[in-house]
Amino acid sequence: MGLLNSLLEHNRAFVEAREYEQFSTDKFPDKNLVVLSCMDARLVELLPKAMGLKNGDFKLIKNAGALVTHQWGSVMRSLLVAVYELRAEEICIVAHHDCGMRAIDPNRILDHAQERGVSADTIATLRGAGIDLDAWLKGFDNVQDSVRHTVATIRSHPLMPKDIPVHGLVIHPATGALDVIVDGNQPG
Ligand SMILES: [Zn+2]
Repeated sequence: MGLLNSLLEHNRAFVEAREYEQFSTDKFPDKNLVVLSCMDARLVELLPKAMGLKNGDFKLIKNAGALVTHQWGSVMRSLLVAVYELRAEEICIVAHHDCGMRAIDPNRILDHAQERGVSADTIATLRGAGIDLDAWLKGFDNVQDSVRHTVATIRSHPLMPKDIPVHGLVIHPATGALDVIVDGNQPG
């Protein structure tokens, strides 16, 4: 049985047993919080548990590295929607130690893409069209610096209100321990 079938089989039993009832809530985050974190599999349950958060408490945005790579990309838009439409009053960036986006090698990704059938011509065409694949695929060298940069990007966004605290944290992917890199309640 394929993965999709096993997911669907579980889903039927889940709905039938009304297991959803324990998760009942609405779309507004009870703790008026939006978190941007990494897609790392170790954080799926650990992050909310380690922060004392449950279903309905917060909005959660995830990507590789907990990054805002573009001022006008979907992560920044999600943060703005959370603030203006969904009652988020504080923002937490939660990156983590041992992140796969640290020191990631864009050339290795492109090598893997070619091994999986993407032609060298396609990559050359993208580069020729002015797409900076190396910058786009690059992660970060230092997680603390990355968090500081992400916080600064959000704080300085022209559409972000100045009174929203933006906190920068790093979580340990095994223990859940949090280090505060930026306390958004402090000025600067
Ligand atoms: Zn990560």
